[in-house]
Amino acid sequence: MSFIEVAGAKVDTRHFIGGQRIASSQTYTNTSPIDGSFLGEISRGSAVEANEAVAAAKRAFPAWSALGPVKRGELLLRLAELVEENIETLAQIETMDNGSLLRSHRRGVMPRVALNIRFFAEWAMNELKHEAFETRGHTNNISWDPSGVAVLITPWNAPLMLATWKIGPALAAGDTVVLKPAEWTPLTASFFADLTKQAGIPDGVFNVVLGFGREVGAVLTSHPDISRISFTGSVPTAKVIAHAAADNLTPCSFELGGKSPLLVFEDADLELAAELAVEQYDNAGQVCLSGTRILVHENIADAFAEKFRERASKLKQGDPRDPETDIGPQIHQVHFDRIKGFVDRAKAEGQDIVMGGQPNAELGGLFFEPTLVKNPTPGSEIVTAEVFGPVLCMQTFKTDAEALEMANGTEFGLAAVVVSGNRDHAKRITDELVAGTIWVNCFFVRDLRAPFGGSKKSGVGREGGNWSFDFYADVKNTVVSPNGWKE
Ligand code: ADP
Repeated sequence: MSFIEVAGAKVDTRHFIGGQRIASSQTYTNTSPIDGSFLGEISRGSAVEANEAVAAAKRAFPAWSALGPVKRGELLLRLAELVEENIETLAQIETMDNGSLLRSHRRGVMPRVALNIRFFAEWAMNELKHEAFETRGHTNNISWDPSGVAVLITPWNAPLMLATWKIGPALAAGDTVVLKPAEWTPLTASFFADLTKQAGIPDGVFNVVLGFGREVGAVLTSHPDISRISFTGSVPTAKVIAHAAADNLTPCSFELGGKSPLLVFEDADLELAAELAVEQYDNAGQVCLSGTRILVHENIADAFAEKFRERASKLKQGDPRDPETDIGPQIHQVHFDRIKGFVDRAKAEGQDIVMGGQPNAELGGLFFEPTLVKNPTPGSEIVTAEVFGPVLCMQTFKTDAEALEMANGTEFGLAAVVVSGNRDHAKRITDELVAGTIWVNCFFVRDLRAPFGGSKKSGVGREGGNWSFDFYADVKNTVVSPNGWKE
């Protein structure tokens, strides 16, 4: 069977290569994290399909790159419209496939998917420019040329959202694309491929290869005919990809993990601080940006903890399709066991688990209780490693210097949240924090014009606005002399 029906929509389970659906002889089983129900057998790509996809993207590149930003933009704007027309379907498919909240997909995520496409199309059409620099009468003109075939490797926690952050600018820049979605969440990428066809995007410009990272991803990332790799995922996989890219010196953009701090200062609005802290359980903790280390000034620690507990106790765990639900299931049994392993080891070490700490016995399946570890031993695994589940740590500090030392004291630098009621104070803190994104008295808001990425082990490079085009395009400087002209 080459189609499955999910939430009333037909989703193709085959690769999308050169505008055609191509099946693999081998398949793997995709189940829903909500209840373990069988969703379908998905084509399990091999080197054959990976190579075919790169070849198709390479063939499509000259015509797509020659089209220019305006003609490409028109097609991409049509694609954005089609996403908008299909928000409900995409939301339903994504929720069945990855278990995130349906209401979030409907209200926030899928509209943002459309915006990811529209924003970068319009940016390439209208905004992408640098000033021309003058040197002794010579003009340095900066332009962005399409670079070739971009390989995009994406994770399962926000599948279509994170994929379109990359697809939007890559296609708008004039690159052609091979997307490899995560094996646990292949469905929205496949449905999206149909929308690209419907939008009139030429065959081969956008390709999807389904399957496992080690099998198909490895072939794509080591391919000599690709020009860019953009990857969102874990640090160990990024290292493997960097090695794969090294032989061809293929430029990589990496957005990786985090163990971000959420700092609550003595001058903070404690209601706001508690609200922001509880928000870190969003998506069942499967968010790379999540502020999983709550650092609180000792003078307000008890008052804050009480407000936090009050709010956290109201979180409703359950079916992500239920509009009342706040926390759904984890993505997959393998990942669930990984999270449980972290918590079990913390327990065995004698860490103080003051909330949750176990699978939700009532719901069973892949539901893990929102968990809080109080005052973990500095340097212990639970407070240094990325759990990527609903597990937060809470620690106290006495001074700003101590807070900053703790906040910056990990190998990561993806994000930070600062809660303070004083602008000067907040500024002094944000100046010293090492992170790609810092939120002050807020969380998760980001303008697509702004750079996004991580410091230290949390990433390589930045995407967003011009930064995306600096990566996906070949940036060119044409220096024009004032001399030698005959006209
Ligand atoms: P996780 O461990 O949380 O699943 P990964 O970083 O391993 O996160 O996965 C993110 C994406 O990277 C997925 O699409 C996965 O298939 C892909 N991937 C995993 N291993 C490789 C690899 N060796 N080469 C290319 N892609 C890979």
